[in-house]
Amino acid sequence: MNEKVLIVEDNSQNMKLLEMLLRPRGYHLLKAADGEEALEVATRERPDLIVMDIQLPKLSGLEVTKKLRQMPAFSRTPIIALTAYAMKGDREKFIRAGCNAYLSKPVNTRELLRVLGEMLSPRQRNNH
Ligand code: MN
Repeated sequence: MNEKVLIVEDNSQNMKLLEMLLRPRGYHLLKAADGEEALEVATRERPDLIVMDIQLPKLSGLEVTKKLRQMPAFSRTPIIALTAYAMKGDREKFIRAGCNAYLSKPVNTRELLRVLGEMLSPRQRNNH
């Protein structure tokens, strides 16, 4: 049950909130504070799911997502994008880059938990 969830978030306050939300659910949490660190941690730890802030230093969450999708190990890893600056057409842009879902900030915690649970449990049951 201890699925690895990588949280990519450069704002420490938001990071803390996401940790407080996810830790009690029993996820094994990994953290990264910028795009380069996200790639490092992801390739080293192989998370089962990634919660990805889009506005990040060094590499944007969109760039990180595109790079991960080029690697066979990450072709199917669920990626949930979070953004504070949702604009028209963003959803399509994120999905095209390879994100599986997209939530706007401030994050609706119930919604995030729902999406996360949906993306993790069916994979385990169906083994894909
Ligand atoms: Mn940010």
